[in-house]
Amino acid sequence: MHTLLDQHPRTTLGFFPTPLTSLPRLSEYLGGPRILMKRDDQSGLALGGNKTRKLEYLLGAALDQECDTLITGGAAQSNHCRQTAAAAAANGLDCHLVLGGEAPATPQGNLLLDQLLGAHIHWSGALRKGEQIPAIAEQLRADGKKPYIVPYGGSSATGALGYVHAAAELKTQLSNREQQISHMLFASSSGGTQAGLIVGAHQAELNCQVIGIRIDKEETSHAYAEQLLTLTNETAALFGIEHRYSPDDITLEARFTGDGYGVVGERERHAINLLARTEGILLDPVYTGRAMGGLLQLIEEGCFEPDDTLLFWHTGGAPALFPYAESLIEPQR
Ligand SMILES: *Cc1c(COP(=O)(O)O)cnc(C)c1O
Repeated sequence: MHTLLDQHPRTTLGFFPTPLTSLPRLSEYLGGPRILMKRDDQSGLALGGNKTRKLEYLLGAALDQECDTLITGGAAQSNHCRQTAAAAAANGLDCHLVLGGEAPATPQGNLLLDQLLGAHIHWSGALRKGEQIPAIAEQLRADGKKPYIVPYGGSSATGALGYVHAAAELKTQLSNREQQISHMLFASSSGGTQAGLIVGAHQAELNCQVIGIRIDKEETSHAYAEQLLTLTNETAALFGIEHRYSPDDITLEARFTGDGYGVVGERERHAINLLARTEGILLDPVYTGRAMGGLLQLIEEGCFEPDDTLLFWHTGGAPALFPYAESLIEPQR
């Protein structure tokens, strides 16, 4: 698989492999099954996260095209925007971020880090899908810059190659320990992580179920599944294999979207507090808190066998804990 991946330019941004650990205290608390965790929150780029792997290939493409500026967009607390700002700084590129909403009085969490990392911030008010990005790119070109537009969430086929690579990395770690997993679970939002893992897990023969836990409520899950299938097949084509995937290859659990994107409820609050107290591991309010909350629910429903080994992919996001402080604290016992 590496010979195929090596054909794509890649810029080192993080520290890989990320640790593969087990969560014995959580498993004991739950009464099984065995749970492993892949620590992509420790990917090493400015507080880490899953966008680092995608950006290695996206930045590879940007530098290959001799671009000098990155533009991307997202929410004010976007982990993707923060890691893009860091990737730009680490390679001497300018970075422009188009963020939804208005500037808060005091920047917190990821937004604070975006500013420390020197990103130029454009507030887009009610427009939340990066509608202004083409106009900003045009202006930058007029000013003699060469911008590279990083797709929303880093989720193009190029970005998803980072997770094809990640699956191969996990295979090596599991083989070295003579371990196998039955299921991998993770937060799924813009789809690059899931598309890459579907292709990568298949190609690396991980022989496990790849389950995305849907984060966003905004679009229908049917539309998301279709979008994901398209991205998966674009990733397979770019990676350089003939195989094409079918709707049966896409497993999405869409029951845990709660009150929508970025809204912390009891499920997220419980999962975040539980992981912190049983394992000393910090999840995040938007993605991994929700995905872990979903995993806990699936275990409770008896969806797994006692001898299954689950792998939870920790995709990062802890910098957003701070701006969500008020929604996260459980009453003192
Ligand atoms: C972006 C993000 C995800 C979702 O990954 P996608 O590839 O967009 O589906 C999950 N967790 C965290 C912490 C993220 O920042």
